[in-house]
Amino acid sequence: MGLEEKLPSGFLLTTVEQAVGLIRKSSMWPATFGLACCAIEMMSVGGPRYDIARFGMERFSATPRQADLMIVAGRVSQKMAPVLRQIYDQMSEPKWVIAMGVCASSGGMFNNYAIVQGVDHVVPVDMYLPGCPPRPEMLMDAVLKLHDKVQNTKLGAHREHEIEEEERRRLRTLPLVEQTEGAAS
Ligand code: SF4
Repeated sequence: MGLEEKLPSGFLLTTVEQAVGLIRKSSMWPATFGLACCAIEMMSVGGPRYDIARFGMERFSATPRQADLMIVAGRVSQKMAPVLRQIYDQMSEPKWVIAMGVCASSGGMFNNYAIVQGVDHVVPVDMYLPGCPPRPEMLMDAVLKLHDKVQNTKLGAHREHEIEEEERRRLRTLPLVEQTEGAAS
């Protein structure tokens, strides 16, 4: 018995945006970007116990050109920041970023000159994940919430959001006087 015999007869109606959203969220390929202890928890979601393959994500991509999700798992050192940005730039559009754990989200307990105080200083972040380290279940919960976001994103809107993020980041790095002028204009 073929699949077509089990489908209801008639029409299935949807919008192009909904169909594209379904395709995008069902075939996300994460880039490997494990930086510290959080990466161990990230790796475990690929194993049989948590089995992230259920969501079409079993393939962690070694090349950023075939990845559309960056999971930043661990603290980002100042020296690593340009590398992270380069990998992000090499990923194909549209792309998303999860900051996994307090270190990636805000620097965490590493409030010092060597660590970037939140990866959103370097790339736009779509989802922040608390915890030190977050459990694999938390990462999977963040992934599913991101799937909902992807499903409901209008075509082209993700890029607009990214441009806004870029502008906010640029303003953050300017001296205070210039920031005030930039925000006023
Ligand atoms: S949040 Fe905790 S577990 Fe994750 S990288 Fe930082 S110190 Fe390690």
